Amino acid sequence: MASALTDRLSRLVKTMRGQARITESNVQDMLREVRMALLEADVALPVVRDFIARVKEKALGAEVVGSLTPGQALVGIVNKELAATMGEVDPATGAVKPPADINLAAQPPAVILMAGLQGAGKTTTTAKLAKHLIEKRKKKVLTVSADVYRPAAIEQLKTVSKQAGAEWFPSTATDKPVAIATAALDHARRHYFDVLLVDTAGRLAIDEALMKEIAELHAAVKPVETLFVVDAMQGQDAINTAKAFKEALPLTGIVLTKTDGDSRGGAALSVRQITGAPIKFAGVSEKIDGLEVFDAQRHAGRVLGMGDIVALVEEVQKGVDVAAAQKLADKLKSGDNFDLNDFLAQISQMKKMGGLSGLMDKLPTQMTGGKAANIGQADMDRAERDVRRMEGIINSMTPLERRKPELLKATRKRRIAAGAGVQVQDVNRLLNQFDQMQGMMKKMKGGGLMKMMKRMGG
Ligand code: GDP
Repeated sequence: MASALTDRLSRLVKTMRGQARITESNVQDMLREVRMALLEADVALPVVRDFIARVKEKALGAEVVGSLTPGQALVGIVNKELAATMGEVDPATGAVKPPADINLAAQPPAVILMAGLQGAGKTTTTAKLAKHLIEKRKKKVLTVSADVYRPAAIEQLKTVSKQAGAEWFPSTATDKPVAIATAALDHARRHYFDVLLVDTAGRLAIDEALMKEIAELHAAVKPVETLFVVDAMQGQDAINTAKAFKEALPLTGIVLTKTDGDSRGGAALSVRQITGAPIKFAGVSEKIDGLEVFDAQRHAGRVLGMGDIVALVEEVQKGVDVAAAQKLADKLKSGDNFDLNDFLAQISQMKKMGGLSGLMDKLPTQMTGGKAANIGQADMDRAERDVRRMEGIINSMTPLERRKPELLKATRKRRIAAGAGVQVQDVNRLLNQFDQMQGMMKKMKGGGLMKMMKRMGG
């Protein structure tokens, strides 16, 4: 039932305190847990095997430094290896670096071909990328749909392109995909577009005709980027889809969509390993601005289930209000909803645990807005300020609003923002953080956190 890897490891870890090294014998059980966690996160089995082998190689004989236990040290290694696999390591610094932006190094118009299964989010992502290229890179962008099987898809692209501020090239269901794409390319050339985004037809499952068609499209328009769009919620199947697209096309990048969903996003690891192509962007909402540069470090934390809860537990044991923690644990156990009052209680708990300094980098990255570990003093000061602001915002809500955050529509948000002396977007950010926390709480109900709290209480 427990979903957080670190929680499970911490159980094992308790039995092996004082061991100074990761050894063949103490690593076996832990690796089994890591394997389970990855499978639960829907990473494909062959990918898991490979990954575990690499981690084992790195872990064996690794020194367990400082006050870390072997379990914590292993979680550290797993986390690092995950991020390194999903992202790219900068050889100079050894750190995971952000992926390169869309490559536009071509005789304009630079063509970008969008590939993926139906429903993966190709059309939405096409518009998101158009917006990104228009706003961030100041490009003139044309879009076209070669999905002749679904006239609705062509219309959908028209609508979202308009929202993105891109021009849309009309196509009809009676045309051939290659003819559509080459006509659009011709139009883009003659009207001095910088970029042409070609949305393509997807099927619900891989089929030969589809692969042949997209390969022909590729040959006809010679894209500088061929992006494979894949749903983060696609589980074990991601590996087969990725294989088929890789065989049909020279993929240059991946866009992982729907990372805002419930899944732990193990598809990222599978797809990255199978295709070898960099994951460039992550879709984070249905909205047109819901696209972010892919953050491998942050995503690794998510695949693992949590940030370094083990270290958090230790920190927590030092000075937490046990009664309050127990109350929260009981509440979760009873299945009551985690509301903004609880969120506020958590925030003040965190403050009690010796300030934020030691804690921020141990929290799941989702909770810290994706902050990587080892943040500096300036970040800390900002974090303290953020917490005070969060308190201010929640304190400006009525008790009913705290219990039912879904009531918070525009008017109420404006009132609260004014009351707390902040912007409406600060209120929105807080509500987003709360949503994420609530999602995590739901997942942990009966699992990780409760056990953690119990240990603290007992
Ligand atoms: P296509 O068939 O590959 O073109 O997929 P669509 O672009 O039509 O997307 C399928 C569904 O997924 C639509 O309902 C989109 O709104 C939704 N979608 C796409 N990307 C995201 C995302 O990043 N987050 C969320 N929540 N929904 C997304």
